[in-house]
Amino acid sequence: MNIILLGAPGAGKGTQAKFLKDHFQIPQISTGDMLREAVAKKSALGNKAKEFMDTGKLVPDSLIIDLVKLRIQQDDCKNGFLLDGFPRTIPQANAMNAAKIQINYVIEIDVPDDEIIKRLGGRRIHPASGRIYHVTNNPPKVQNLDDITGEPLIIRDDDRQDTILKRLATYHEQTKPLVDFYKNFVGENRPTYFRIDGTEQAEKISSVIQKKIVQ
Ligand code: AMP
Repeated sequence: MNIILLGAPGAGKGTQAKFLKDHFQIPQISTGDMLREAVAKKSALGNKAKEFMDTGKLVPDSLIIDLVKLRIQQDDCKNGFLLDGFPRTIPQANAMNAAKIQINYVIEIDVPDDEIIKRLGGRRIHPASGRIYHVTNNPPKVQNLDDITGEPLIIRDDDRQDTILKRLATYHEQTKPLVDFYKNFVGENRPTYFRIDGTEQAEKISSVIQKKIVQ
């Protein structure tokens, strides 16, 4: 089962990915996480990617395509994989196609821009553990401090207001066209595409997705 999750930053792809990966026993491949790890390690890739990420731009296709192709050749992807945050551009989708990588489902999680801005603007992170809070939806017990360690929470560089707006614009310009790409896909490898209302509760979204996917 090979699945692509499409949706704006903050639409809930990560949350649904966790559910899908447990349910179908397939690895979640988040290019955002892979890149953040590379940035933290200060690897050559990370150093190249950081500036694009901090300013809400996509990293160049050439940096990301081979990274994903290599990742899905690993053993744990034998029974399938879940792509979270990839492809993000038409050339990335074409590269998957050219490599004859079959996709079974493309799931779009749809959330209006004003809701995305509220969600991302209120997100707070505990950097050491990756724990995520939200100032109104999931606040820490003590304002701005991690529940477990009491350490200060931070705002991710790319969750700052101007960067959020830039990331949304990037999504509409470069990623949203993938919806038509997959809807109008011609050929025997055509994936099943469906759209989910991402403003519903996470559990409800998971159960709708589960019903739509036929194993
Ligand atoms: P995410 O956590 O998925 O929102 O990704 C964080 C950032 O990583 C994005 O704003 C981009 O700068 C970069 N990124 C992640 N995935 C891709 C991709 N498939 N293509 C280009 N850039 C990406």
